[in-house]
This record gives sequence, structure tokens and C-alpha cells, in this order.
Amino acid sequence: MNNTNEMTVSFTSNAQNEGFARMVVAAFITGTNPTLEEVSDVKTAVSEAVTNSIIHGYGDKDGKVVINASVTGRSIYLEIIDYGKGIEDVKKAMEPMFTTRPDEERSGMGFSFMEAFMDRVEVVSKPDNGTVVKMWKEIGTVGRQFE
Ligand code: ATP
Ligand code: MG
Repeated sequence: MNNTNEMTVSFTSNAQNEGFARMVVAAFITGTNPTLEEVSDVKTAVSEAVTNSIIHGYGDKDGKVVINASVTGRSIYLEIIDYGKGIEDVKKAMEPMFTTRPDEERSGMGFSFMEAFMDRVEVVSKPDNGTVVKMWKEIGTVGRQFE
């Protein structure tokens, strides 16, 4: 099964769409036959990236968040894209506990969670142009007790 299956979804940067984003990606990756834990990992990573786009990328403004997802065999590739304010120093932003919003109960752990739950995370961003978070995960790499 080497055919690539692709999906794109675009939605307004409302906080309520975070749940939608988690569900739509979870539904899309069903064909990779993930464990509940693997689904949960992907959903958490998507939540963190989408929340960042909504809160940091757009703030009080409305904008569009786009998710591109593709599955090839059991390999998942995701892009979470916004056209918001962008990140000046990506390396610093990705450090554990770095946040530019310490005032609003943010812990600065979003990127750390994405890196912990996915195999690989890359961020491309330009101030005033927006941010692309690219994430990869291979399903089925951890021992499967019940098979
Ligand atoms: P937490 O995710 O724990 O609530 P946080 O969002 O501040 O806190 P990270 O998700 O790790 O922590 O993000 C670190 C920092 O990177 C943010 O504080 C913000 O400055 C910047 N950032 C992340 N994503 C974006 C984005 N899409 N657009 C603009 N800035 C971003
Ligand atoms: Mg965050």
C-alpha cells in the first residue's frame, strides 16, 4: 500500500475549532490502524499546534488555519499552517518552558509536547507572514500487545 492519501481542511481561528481539528485528523488517520495511544498522541500534537496558531498567530484577529494531512502506508505527515504574526526566533520558541505569554497561564510546553508525541517536528516561520508546523509520525513502531 504505497498510495498516498491526502486531506486539507481550512477553518476560522476560533478556539472552538480546536476540537474539530483534533477529530478530523483522528478520523483521517484511522486507516493507519493506530492504537488508542497513538491516536491520542496525534490529537494532542494537533491541539497544541492549532492552539498556537489561534492564540499566538492571530491573537484577537480572525484568520484561517489550514491543516494538510497525508498518509502513506502507516506514515503520517501533518502541516498546521497559519498566516498570522509569525515567530521571530524559532529555535528559542521551541525550547521547553519558553513562552511569550507567561501572563495567561501558558507554560511554554506546546512544542515540547509536539516533539514528545510525534517522531519529528519542524517549524518554518517568518514574522508577519505566518507559521508552518510540520510533523511526522510512523504508526506501529511500538510493540503491540494484543496482536
Ligand atoms: P503552552 O503551549 O504551554 O500553553 P506556549 O503556547 O507559550 O504555552 P509553545 O506552544 O511551546 O508554548 O510555544 C512557544 C512560543 O512560540 C509561544 O509563546 C509563542 O511566542 C510562539 N509561537 C508558537 N506558535 C506560534 C504561532 N503559530 N504563531 C506565532 N507565535 C507562535
Ligand atoms: Mg502553545
